[in-house]
Amino acid sequence: MRAGFPDFRLGSVLATSFTGTLSERHGDAVERIPTPRRLADWLVLNGLAVDSCTAAQLGLARELREAIHAAATAAAIGNPLPSAAVQVINDRSAQGRAAAILTLEGKRQWRLSPASPVEDALGVIAADAISIIAGERDGKLALCASPTCRAAFFDTSQSRTRKWCDMNTCGNRQKKARFTANHRKKPRPAE
Ligand SMILES: [Zn+2]
Repeated sequence: MRAGFPDFRLGSVLATSFTGTLSERHGDAVERIPTPRRLADWLVLNGLAVDSCTAAQLGLARELREAIHAAATAAAIGNPLPSAAVQVINDRSAQGRAAAILTLEGKRQWRLSPASPVEDALGVIAADAISIIAGERDGKLALCASPTCRAAFFDTSQSRTRKWCDMNTCGNRQKKARFTANHRKKPRPAE
């Protein structure tokens, strides 16, 4: 972590981890990629090795992030997909030229082109979003139950009943709130 910047929340699904770089959208929003450097840091941590980003590329990334958020939210609640958001996702996907590489250890890596590594990385994220919104992967899009969050997340639990985008933040906060409420309800012991 870099001092002075909000931490990243890392998840197992690339596209929704990316939308999580803006959290608490319905409360006190936290921008976790406030600078081009932080976008580069996030991409590197997620297996998309870029050296640096420009302010314009940060703009493209945030536009893609909000498009994925809008489309995933619509998909989660069964609404028609917003066409402007779909256009942005498709543009980023089409512009990316990343190659999937199989390592000898049997892992997938992304090879980004030297000429446009950030655009290629955004293309990988856009393609990941397409695969979950299109329902190609085992799981279900849902919205976080926290009223200040409402992040779209990809539920891969067996029962498909996950309520929170992240157990360590939203889930935990709710648990604590319930605990405090229960505690207050109990009558004070007689003195
Ligand atoms: Zn949440």
